[in-house]
Amino acid sequence: MSVASNTAASPLAPDWLQVPADLNELQEPLWAGSVSRGADGGLTVGGVSVRELKEQFGTPLFVMDEADFRARARAFKDSFDAAFADICGGVDVYYAGKSFLCTAVVKWVEEEGLRLDTASGGELAVAARAGIAGSRVALHGNNKSDAEINRALDMGLGRIVVDSLDELVRVGDLAQARGAQAKVMLRLTPGVHAHTHEFIATAHEDQKFGLSMAADTTAEAGISAAEEAVAAAAAHPGIELLGLHCHIGSQIFEPDGFALAAEKLLRFLAAMQEKYSITMPELDLGGGYGIAYTPVDTPRPAAEIATAMAAVVRSTCAELGIDAPRISIEPGRAIVGSTTFTLYEVGTLKTVRVDAPAAGSDAGNNVTYPRRYVSVDGGMSDNARPVLYDADYSAVLASRTSGAAPQLSRVVGKHCESGDIVVRDVYLPEDVAAGDLLAVPGTGAYCWALSSNYNYLARPGVVAVRDGSARLIVRGETEEDLLNRDMGA
Ligand SMILES: *Cc1c(COP(=O)(O)O)cnc(C)c1O
Repeated sequence: MSVASNTAASPLAPDWLQVPADLNELQEPLWAGSVSRGADGGLTVGGVSVRELKEQFGTPLFVMDEADFRARARAFKDSFDAAFADICGGVDVYYAGKSFLCTAVVKWVEEEGLRLDTASGGELAVAARAGIAGSRVALHGNNKSDAEINRALDMGLGRIVVDSLDELVRVGDLAQARGAQAKVMLRLTPGVHAHTHEFIATAHEDQKFGLSMAADTTAEAGISAAEEAVAAAAAHPGIELLGLHCHIGSQIFEPDGFALAAEKLLRFLAAMQEKYSITMPELDLGGGYGIAYTPVDTPRPAAEIATAMAAVVRSTCAELGIDAPRISIEPGRAIVGSTTFTLYEVGTLKTVRVDAPAAGSDAGNNVTYPRRYVSVDGGMSDNARPVLYDADYSAVLASRTSGAAPQLSRVVGKHCESGDIVVRDVYLPEDVAAGDLLAVPGTGAYCWALSSNYNYLARPGVVAVRDGSARLIVRGETEEDLLNRDMGA
């Protein structure tokens, strides 16, 4: 066995990972709009340097570009409004709060003309604290408690998205008991499930969400759960049936899956309107629009997806001879994901040797290659997505530039878990050292939201940066926070 040099492309790297021509470059489209390198080579965001952020707020830290958040929210609203203007007068965009939610973000969402999607009583509490009108809020969830339904009714929610027949009756009864009508959308499973580059279409879906559109041949009436729900909703005095909803997946790049789901729901909506002599004025096509986590991810601009979806809605409604319902969508990740990077401090460095087949040789002729483990001061407690979904991320040296050679690295956290990986494979400069700052882009969605206190780590704060100033929108936890709920021996 020989030992390979550690500067060229490593055979340990996945095929998609290229050695960057310039390790200091911030590759598009991973970063928020205002992120660049300052005169000293360190990253700046919104005019504030990461070294100042580190000094003021510590690490790990979620750093959000507020102007970038607002711009992405506006881009969805404006491009969908434009594409659907002649079809249904525009689109209601519900920001999916579960991706990242706090009162500041609710205010931005409102100011940019969007609405808010929630999925629990706690998320409704944030909405209430932020003061958004209940009429602009939606509530999701496959297991809403009576308390959550009552809270939604108290707040005068614009829509409750009902997930099952069981829940439909509970929502209707609770509303009726107070002499009210709940505004209800029915979540259907159209048999279209999409992720990134492909979608699968099936008749039946084996999942906990939604009402199946597939005819249930075992049921006496032979109708689908979706149709049963439409009939029950239309007949219930406590329900105002607004329309239908679907959500076909996450991190989707291609518009085809959205278009197929839209077509299926429109056909069903038209059939139900005719059969039950009702009008359903709304159709919600959910979220799931993808973002770039690594340089090989190529998400489509909102305008391109909007145009593709509008074309299908326009032609299907024309074919069916129905007025188009008002369309709504629920992007989460695509609004907040790329607005934020996580700032970490590098601690321990360790290089391990890994056997792999020598390039161009038969298996068995192994060579030993180095992989460097770069430990940072957070990990799976602030980003569970690599563990949960095998998600890939990227990283750069953030506190300075470096002219050193690229070295295949694995950025790992400080938890007692060998799967505690932040960035599985990335080329970082060979001279990265303890005390350097690393930035991992694309951590705005489903990172803070999924954070934990594993190993009694304090969950990081979130800082919003704008026009040269930074302010905490969620403070980081302290050791006291961590001990607060321990009732003592
Ligand atoms: C999670 C979710 C969304 C948002 O998904 P993104 O992938 O973040 O766009 C929208 N609608 C529903 C019903 C969801 O569950």
